[in-house]
Amino acid sequence: MGSLGSYLDMDTDGRKANVLKYECLLFDMDDTLYPMSSGLNLACRKNIEGFMLQHLHIEESEVPRMCLELYREYGTTMAGLKALGYEFDDDEFHAFAHGRLPYEKLKPDAVLRNLLLSMPQRKIIFTNADKGHAAEVLKRLGLEDCFEGVICFETLNPPVETANYTDALDNNAVLAGVEVELNVLDDDADKESSHSKPRILCKPSLEAVEAAIQIANVDPKKTIFFDDSARNIASGKAAGLHTVIVGSSALVPGADYALNSIHNIKEAIPEIWEDEEEQQEQVIQSSAVETVVLA
Ligand SMILES: [Mg+2]
Repeated sequence: MGSLGSYLDMDTDGRKANVLKYECLLFDMDDTLYPMSSGLNLACRKNIEGFMLQHLHIEESEVPRMCLELYREYGTTMAGLKALGYEFDDDEFHAFAHGRLPYEKLKPDAVLRNLLLSMPQRKIIFTNADKGHAAEVLKRLGLEDCFEGVICFETLNPPVETANYTDALDNNAVLAGVEVELNVLDDDADKESSHSKPRILCKPSLEAVEAAIQIANVDPKKTIFFDDSARNIASGKAAGLHTVIVGSSALVPGADYALNSIHNIKEAIPEIWEDEEEQQEQVIQSSAVETVVLA
C-alpha cells in the first residue's frame, strides 16, 4: 500500500514529469565500455604506427609523436593522416589497426551487461571505430545484444563512388543525417580538385556529434552521452547533450558527471533507473494493487 500511496502522491504533485527526463543513452565504446588498462588502446596505437611506417613510409622517428598529435587534433590518427593528404584505403587501414589486436584481453562483462539491460532508455553505440572492430569488441564483452544500434566509421563515412558521388547522395535516403554532412568538404580540396574527397567525419567534430544525433533521431536534451575523451565530451555538450566523462574521477569542461568506471553508473546517475521504477509501477499498478490488498 505504501508504494501505491507514494505513486499517487507523485502523480499529483508533478514529479511524474521526470519520467521521461532521459530517453536515450549514447555510448562511446573503446576505453568507455571497458577500461584503458585492457591494453587494447596501446596495441591499437602500435598497429597504427606500424601502418604509418610500412604503408605511408613516414620517418620512423616522427611516427609516435605524429600518431598522437593527429589523434588529438583530428579525433583519430586516420582522419589526421587524410587531412594531411595521405591517400590509403580506409578498410586496409582498419584491417591493419584492428586486425591483430589482443581481443582476448576483453572478457564478458556481466556486471555491465546487467546494468545496460536494466536501463529503460534506448541505448546506442557512437564510436569512431569501424564496424568490424565494434562488432568484435561488443561480442567479446558479451554486450552485442544490449544496444539498439551502432553508429561507427562506416555510418558517418559511407563509401562513396567517385564517379557517381552526386547520385549517391541523392539515393541515400536512409542515411538522411549523413547526406547533409557529406557535403562538408575540405575547402581547399573543393576548389582544387574535381573529385575532392569528403574529409573524415568523426568525433570530436561537432558535425559528427550532430550527425549522430540526427541518425539516432534523439532529442539531445533527453540524451546522455558517455565518452572517455575530454574533447568528445566538450563537443557533446556543445551539441546540447548531457555528458559523462568515463575513466576519470574529475570533471572535465562540458561534463555533467565523471565516472571512474562505467560500472559506477548507477551510483552516479540513479535517475536513469528511478524514473523507470516509477513507470513500471504505473504499468503493473492494477495487478500489484490487488496483490497488496489480498496480502
Ligand atoms: Mg573512447
